[in-house]
Amino acid sequence: MALDSKIPQGPIADKWTNYKNHIDLVNPANKRNIDVIVVGTGLAGGSAAATLAELGYNVKAFCFQDSPRRAHSIAAQGGINAAKNYQGDGDSTYRLFYDTVKGGDYRSREANVYRLAEVSANIIDQCVAQGVPFAREYGGLLDNRSFGGVLVSRTFYAAGQTGQQLLLGAYSAMNRQIGRGKIKMYNRHEMLDVVKVGGKARGIITRNLITGEIERHSAHAVILGTGGYGNVFFLSTNAMGSNVTAAWKAHKRGAYFANPCYTQIHPTCIPVSGDHQSKLTLMSESLRNDGRIWVPKHMKDVEAIRNRTLMPKDLAEADRDYYLERRYPAFGNLVPRDVASRAAKERCDAGFGVNATGEAVFLDFASAIQRYGKETAHVKGLDENDAALVKTLGQEVIKNKYGNLFQMYEKIVDQDPYNTPMMIYPAVHYTMGGIWVDYNLMTTVPGLYCIGEANFSDHGANRLGASALMQGLADGYFVLPYTIGDYLSDDIRTGTIPTDSKEFEDAENEVRKTLNFFVTNEGKHSVDYFHKKLGKIMWNKVGMARNVKGLTEAISEIKELRAEFWKDVKVPGTNEEYNEELAKAGRVADFLELGELFAKDALDREESCGGHFREDAVELDGEQKGEAKRDDENFAYVSAWEYKGEPSDAVLHKEQLEFKDIELKQRSYK
Ligand SMILES: Cc1cc2nc3c(=O)[nH]c(=O)nc-3n(C[C@H](O)[C@H](O)[C@H](O)COP(=O)(O)OP(=O)(O)OC[C@H]3O[C@@H](n4cnc5c(N)ncnc54)[C@H](O)[C@@H]3O)c2cc1C
Repeated sequence: MALDSKIPQGPIADKWTNYKNHIDLVNPANKRNIDVIVVGTGLAGGSAAATLAELGYNVKAFCFQDSPRRAHSIAAQGGINAAKNYQGDGDSTYRLFYDTVKGGDYRSREANVYRLAEVSANIIDQCVAQGVPFAREYGGLLDNRSFGGVLVSRTFYAAGQTGQQLLLGAYSAMNRQIGRGKIKMYNRHEMLDVVKVGGKARGIITRNLITGEIERHSAHAVILGTGGYGNVFFLSTNAMGSNVTAAWKAHKRGAYFANPCYTQIHPTCIPVSGDHQSKLTLMSESLRNDGRIWVPKHMKDVEAIRNRTLMPKDLAEADRDYYLERRYPAFGNLVPRDVASRAAKERCDAGFGVNATGEAVFLDFASAIQRYGKETAHVKGLDENDAALVKTLGQEVIKNKYGNLFQMYEKIVDQDPYNTPMMIYPAVHYTMGGIWVDYNLMTTVPGLYCIGEANFSDHGANRLGASALMQGLADGYFVLPYTIGDYLSDDIRTGTIPTDSKEFEDAENEVRKTLNFFVTNEGKHSVDYFHKKLGKIMWNKVGMARNVKGLTEAISEIKELRAEFWKDVKVPGTNEEYNEELAKAGRVADFLELGELFAKDALDREESCGGHFREDAVELDGEQKGEAKRDDENFAYVSAWEYKGEPSDAVLHKEQLEFKDIELKQRSYK
């Protein structure tokens, strides 16, 4: 099937408005006869469900947690971008569009990104109206901070809990519709297949995670807002339950999977401490507003710090290497995540890592504490030369800005980050790849939509900080509610979709067969045994730096591991009860297929771009020596993979990317 991105004609700034002016609408009375399934109630799914119900559609919403408000979006810390230009520092729709395309290393679709920038301002208004308590400045206006890869301050935030507050907003909007009976909420339900009837998505099969009951649900359209697949690496900053199952089942039913290898490795996470770990903790990017990243310049100091004969705070300024400020003077500590992560890896690979494993760099707030302390003393007319006073005042400011993050760090690491620099290292965080969607956010299966982190749409090969929340809420509140109407306008006479058709029966039987296999297989190893092994292959061979040898090995090792899994997995308990191991088994089975496609995609893309770094595609000389080398001539496309059975048989379709409004050039943050 040829890919049609359905980008509207006309100048980029007019596309979305013209599009909205000309699409088909469904009148309010007819909306009452149309059912829509929304799988996922994070920021993307939650905002879509609330808005569609408010418009009048009958919505059925599903999540695997015990409440929509426990979706993984709740973990988001640092903030949400919007081109409001409240700071008067030169921000605009165009600049947000430009920063996002450049930040994504010119691998995203211009039209989608422009629309995202355009609706970003509406999101803030919507959320403020819902009562989201964004941080405010002294004068009462909403405050902003800076995130990586941009030269303006456009990030709105609610302390270090922005995702939680935004999700409470979406959740309360959903609850109003649940109260009205317009949303029927299915908590603790896991979608295990998409059902197609007559080539269109017409429903899903779910398992009630409490009772094990398998259910059929029908609708005129199905929307997936099921999050990212970073947990294919086993260790990541994602919630433990985050998984690819919904997207992967959709892929198996005909939805192309785009750019699976585009993964974001976040530079500021608490380093891995041992084999016992199943989760990594993010230290928000907002910390890079004030924290300076460094390692010692000299190996003797590295060793002394590791042996604890030298305290990092006692190392003289002249002996520190603020390597981001050194290498990227224009953006300094606020370079994009992919650049910062690779730079940390480069220093640690060179032996300068500051912890016992050699995989950590410092994030230091001492300068910021001084700066804020002096400023506060000045404002209050106190003695700016009183070192103890300045430190106390400065720490107070830092506490107000990042207190909960500092507290979290101290609880996990047992060190006081106000007095000694934090230790950080990159970790898997976000997946830019996902289900391919057109401008309407529809997948290659008619009637099946995909929104939020689960789709591939807006971030290219690297997502800028604070842009995931923006995209999820843009999709759910402001884009999908329009685009889906155009599709559903053909369904006003269809009537309720029956669930007793052969298509529903076949899909249900397949689900039952797999579940039955898991609970009866006489294997020896737990699900986690396989998941950990998969994670190790992914991190070592498909992680921050990739090469042909490693990727080829990864493909065959994952294939072998998958065969072993289906032979030897042991799932205790039954299907007719709450069985977390059973749910996990299905998710890991899908990760074992995705992992192989992921490596295959990385092998196919013989360039470095954004989070995808190929060791054989590096600038060899000039100002950019050592930086990632893109190949626009051969790889300026979206890779969209069609399922054909084994991941090795997947067929590649290319969506050629066109850059008419932004010049394609080398990404430089120097
Ligand atoms: C620690 C951390 C901090 C972050 N901080 C920021 C930040 O400051 N700013 C920013 O922009 N981004 C941030 N991000 C990224 C951002 O939080 C996510 O990309 C975004 O919240 C994803 O939202 P979503 O709605 O697409 O998916 P999610 O919030 O992951 O929701 C997925 C939903 O799908 C449901 N689901 C999944 N599979 C199934 C299934 N098979 N059946 C039924 N239901 C299913 C789940 O129950 C859940 O309701 C952060 C990410 C992490 C990990």
